[in-house]
Amino acid sequence: MRVEDLRHIFVVGAGTMGSGIAQVAAVAGFRVTVMDVDPEQLERARKVIDRSTAKLVEKGKLTPEQREQALKIEYVTTLEPASEADFCIEAATERPDIKENIFRELDARTRPEVVLATNTSSIPITRLAAVTSRPDKVVGMHFFNPVPLMALVEVIRGLQTSDETAALVVELARVLGKTPVEVKDAPGFIANRILMPFINEAIFALQEGLATVEAIDTVAKLGFNHPMGPLALADLIGLDVVLFILEVLHRDLGEDKYRPASLLRQLVHAGQWGRKTGLGFYDYRENPKGVPRSFS
Ligand code: NAD
Repeated sequence: MRVEDLRHIFVVGAGTMGSGIAQVAAVAGFRVTVMDVDPEQLERARKVIDRSTAKLVEKGKLTPEQREQALKIEYVTTLEPASEADFCIEAATERPDIKENIFRELDARTRPEVVLATNTSSIPITRLAAVTSRPDKVVGMHFFNPVPLMALVEVIRGLQTSDETAALVVELARVLGKTPVEVKDAPGFIANRILMPFINEAIFALQEGLATVEAIDTVAKLGFNHPMGPLALADLIGLDVVLFILEVLHRDLGEDKYRPASLLRQLVHAGQWGRKTGLGFYDYRENPKGVPRSFS
């Protein structure tokens, strides 16, 4: 299949990432269907897309016609309508059992030539490909959060992904206005392989009392020209997610350098997961921008 042959994109999962992916695909002119098992998530996604596209029109970054396209997204609660899709992107909960079931069902329901992509951050593409009868057409398409604003897409080849499939996803990423990079299937791919140890090291520096939260983040902002420090970024990603990905890197690559900092574990155990819970390395309860906390 070539990118010109794609008309209808089917997105599985209507959470943070699925709703963003659906939005960029609709804005790029595709017919889009989003599926989620939770109807409340579908309703939330509809509202998020409504608000996000309204803001982008206000800023002149989208035309009113593009917003109209996004408001035509179809929302469904079963995988049955995937039989009409030309391309599928799975962005459901990060659990191997859930994703394997979805891939089995997509394999059964979609036309045999349809590519099945996954937005997973940590599950091997090769493992998801193995539950299908078309491992050459299974591929990673790893978007970044927030999807409408972040330009990067990692295109991940599983062991059996064909050149044709990888080329189609690279082209599709470009049509969606993104910049694709091709990477091999390995724990954390490239982005998380680099980012997570960086965040972890910042947490080690904090727990060793080398500097304050504010000082560590200032070093990254002014010293490396990062828009945001590693501790603020960890709060944005979610400390539960950071710990989960570090554990995958530590287990699957088997090296001590990926050992999660104990302060990270403690914060996760305490339910302090960053922005989404109001507390992380910063306190967001009174000030939405976050006030640095003291860990001395
Ligand atoms: P989320 O929790 O916001 O959304 C997941 C959605 O999947 C939920 O709406 C849930 O109801 C739905 N779901 C669960 N089981 C399902 C099923 N069987 N069929 C259909 N839908 C189902 O999660 P998210 O942050 O959007 O992450 C989704 C995927 O994207 C994960 O694989 C994650 O690793 C990856 N990812 C996340 C980020 C991020 O920053 N959040 C970045 C890159 C990749």
